[in-house]
Amino acid sequence: MRLVTVRTGTVSLTSERVCAGHYVEAGAVRLLLDCGSGIAHGLARQGLPWRALTHVAITHFHTDHFADFATLAFAWRYGSLTGRTAPLVLVGPQGIGALLDRLIAAFGDWLRDPGFTIDVREIAPGDAIDLGDGTTLRAAKVPHTDESVAYAVERGGRRIVYTGDTGYDPMVAEWARGADVLLCECSLPVEMAIPSHLTPEQCGALAAAALPKHLVLTHFYPPVERLDIRALVGAHYAGPVTLAADGSTFEIEED
Ligand SMILES: [Zn+2]
Ligand SMILES: [Zn+2]
Repeated sequence: MRLVTVRTGTVSLTSERVCAGHYVEAGAVRLLLDCGSGIAHGLARQGLPWRALTHVAITHFHTDHFADFATLAFAWRYGSLTGRTAPLVLVGPQGIGALLDRLIAAFGDWLRDPGFTIDVREIAPGDAIDLGDGTTLRAAKVPHTDESVAYAVERGGRRIVYTGDTGYDPMVAEWARGADVLLCECSLPVEMAIPSHLTPEQCGALAAAALPKHLVLTHFYPPVERLDIRALVGAHYAGPVTLAADGSTFEIEED
């Protein structure tokens, strides 16, 4: 599998980072995990096959994780001389179908029938979806918004876990245990800590319990970037840590 951190910021826009979105290639599966504003262009900028995505999975309905879905669909419809015909699977927590209906009401009927099928799959915590070609997507509940989930992408005995936005919860660490890559949000300094996001110290504690082979941090608000994140995480967790940049790429060899 291959993971590319397409965009690694939040709603707090800076010249360096915007919103959140991550690309996973797993066999024939080309999956986008979250689709915040700027991700559609981010895919093109990173040279990723935006026209050929097979799946988009949304962790929760905050705009910085979902806003570019209509932009992508419009690009698939009108961004090439020959519009997309291959079906697209849109995965999200309960309510993703109703949210798409509201987008159709706002943007127009072309989004209901963009020339290809949008197969909406609602996933509940604990459920798994077969993405095809031996790849499975699992969801777990995380403390952020009511609907928020984390995702695990599994293929060939390997596992990428993406927390989405989350507060600290030992159950999340337990669920993520042994991941090859734990792609974890790292939002705020401890003096700005809130129950719905993680501090670097909490990322370290989460990783110390989950023991991933590689901890990759993303979703940085500007104040947290003024800290020595690596040292704060390292006080809790001794394994490999990467602070993701836009376009960071991780290869995960399968069995
Ligand atoms: Zn967010
Ligand atoms: Zn959020």
